[in-house]
Amino acid sequence: KYDFSTRIRQVNPSATQQIADKAKELSQRGEDVISLGVGEPDFDTPVEVKECAKEALDDGFVHYTSTKGIRELREEIVGKLEEENQIDAGIEDVLVTPGGKFSIFLVCQAFLDENDEAILFDPAWVSYDECVKLAGAEPVWSETNANLKPDLEDFKDKINDSTSLVILNSPCNPTGQVYDESTIKAVTEIARENNCLVMSDEIYEKIIYEKEHYSPGSEYDNVITVNGFSKTFSMTGWRLGYTVAEEEVIDEMKKIQQHSVSCPTSFAQKGAVCAYKNKEIESKLEGMVLKYRKRRDTLLKGLKSLDIECTKPEGGFYAFPYIGTDSFKVSEELLDKCHIGVTPGKAFGDGGKGYIRISYAQSEERIKEAIERIRKTELEYI
Ligand code: PLP
Repeated sequence: KYDFSTRIRQVNPSATQQIADKAKELSQRGEDVISLGVGEPDFDTPVEVKECAKEALDDGFVHYTSTKGIRELREEIVGKLEEENQIDAGIEDVLVTPGGKFSIFLVCQAFLDENDEAILFDPAWVSYDECVKLAGAEPVWSETNANLKPDLEDFKDKINDSTSLVILNSPCNPTGQVYDESTIKAVTEIARENNCLVMSDEIYEKIIYEKEHYSPGSEYDNVITVNGFSKTFSMTGWRLGYTVAEEEVIDEMKKIQQHSVSCPTSFAQKGAVCAYKNKEIESKLEGMVLKYRKRRDTLLKGLKSLDIECTKPEGGFYAFPYIGTDSFKVSEELLDKCHIGVTPGKAFGDGGKGYIRISYAQSEERIKEAIERIRKTELEYI
């Protein structure tokens, strides 16, 4: 009946959403579903952040802001970048967007043309692929090794004159892997030798365990950094993220923001100012990361007791166990027979097809219960 555009027809619906919808449907029917599928913190937004946003509402801060985001927030972001990431940026080098995802979308729109290629490390977060396609370009998958880290030899093979963008994501969704500084540097240098930009998605930088986070934007000028408030401050519904790049780049991206969403939400930005400004929140974050780490350990122990192989996740709140068979069948079976929602690894690229992604943004009790349900159920695929 409708003559949809070629562009929209080649975009796939989010696979992470599909399974979450099915799990929600089961819950609504009264089933006790353990949701380990969605990439969303189960913690609440810090109360201080909420208070600032409420104050802004009460003060009537309810109108459009400047397209790039309020100055106060960009100043806080600049301070944060300098202190925590050693990234030297000015306030005109920052674009606040409605979510980190929109930053990624804008970077793709700004730099990708038809026949351009963008390299992703396989497996990669579901939206990169689609954002690249929405810009008319071709996603090219570069392999990762047995530890789910970039295979530099394969990367060198894949990068070519048509490559315009390389997407790095550490800590990584879906694998939970944190790439070493040397790996990130090598990728960035190879990209630079090929006149290629790197988009470094650092949205999980604060949720990290044994490793240190490294921002390539601190040393290389071919890097665009993307970050946001969703994961660190449990603010997914606030829709706030940002891009850091040279002013010339930001101003090009700004044009699309201007003509699509105008600006990020006014009072949400005031809340985000507080997230970076209020130092008490820092200690709360430490407590949150400790909890995630404990949950990860509980999950790893449980998986081991079930003889399921899993490379130890070093950041984010995802584990990516190897199940060896069709990840869609396994995920469906876990939902149908155990009422556990996970995400099929294949949704993140061919490299993930023998894996499932388990989000441990869930209480320890529920994680333990999930393991017991699997133990007690006769499963065909695990
Ligand atoms: N990047 C990665 C790797 C993510 O997993 C997500 C959210 O799931 C985002 C970016 C975007 O987050 P948001 O748009 O909520 O800032």
